[in-house]
Amino acid sequence: MKQHTLKTACTFRGTGLHTGRPVSLEVCPAPAGHGLVFQRTDLPGAPCVPALAANAGRTRRSTLLQAGRAKVRTPEHLLSALYALGVDNALLRLDAEEVPILDGSARPFAEAFLAAGLEAQDADRKPIVVTKPFVYADTRSGSTLRIDPAEDFSVEVTVDYPSRVVGVQRARFDAGTDFAAQVAPSRTFCFKKEVWMMRLTGLIRGGSLDNALVVDEPRGYVGDPALHFDNEPARHKLLDLLGDLSLAGRPIRGRVQAYKPGHRFNAHALQLFLATPCHE
Ligand SMILES: [Zn+2]
Repeated sequence: MKQHTLKTACTFRGTGLHTGRPVSLEVCPAPAGHGLVFQRTDLPGAPCVPALAANAGRTRRSTLLQAGRAKVRTPEHLLSALYALGVDNALLRLDAEEVPILDGSARPFAEAFLAAGLEAQDADRKPIVVTKPFVYADTRSGSTLRIDPAEDFSVEVTVDYPSRVVGVQRARFDAGTDFAAQVAPSRTFCFKKEVWMMRLTGLIRGGSLDNALVVDEPRGYVGDPALHFDNEPARHKLLDLLGDLSLAGRPIRGRVQAYKPGHRFNAHALQLFLATPCHE
């Protein structure tokens, strides 16, 4: 299988979910072997931040990438679309710290990339081939990540909230899944009781009912209750996990199963996986 990039550049304008700041993002074609690399065009010298697990920093409610003093916040929905659609190489030019949240899903990204089209490049993909089972469990949160050898890449996610609205839900992605239709439209979500605390600690300044599902326990969803899927929260956690797995820097050939995944857990689990001799 050859590496791929986009045929043409795609531009997105919006605001950051947590910073609330306006931002413009240009996703540009890049040569084979380049990988997915952010560039902060607003900073002196326009420093680059490769989307790699080694650059994943401490996170609160979203993923953070950092190289030197240059940071990129909330890259996960953009990276999810690139990874799931098989875009190996792209330069992600950003003129602020946080990727635009758009409608809280990955649909605008996926639709733009499919419209731009993918171009095969003159270099082979080098997948990370899982050779032995890997398991990581976080006893404090109860989250687990398991990666087993398999012929193809697949991801299964189970969420388990003490919530009458969300509760236990599952979602799955594999080679036969239409990411743009089945995963990308699922929106980010939070619980109404957490909103004031997140606002108090400087988060979700750009959050609104236009870009997030809000769960009002035990009544249901606030505002527009029209879910895109019955299990939209689980599908969104799957979307997030695909974005976080993209930080492996290469496609993973293996079966991934996650229970109660979250960004901080995902980043730590992926770093441990990459450091463990269970793949080649
Ligand atoms: Zn998300």
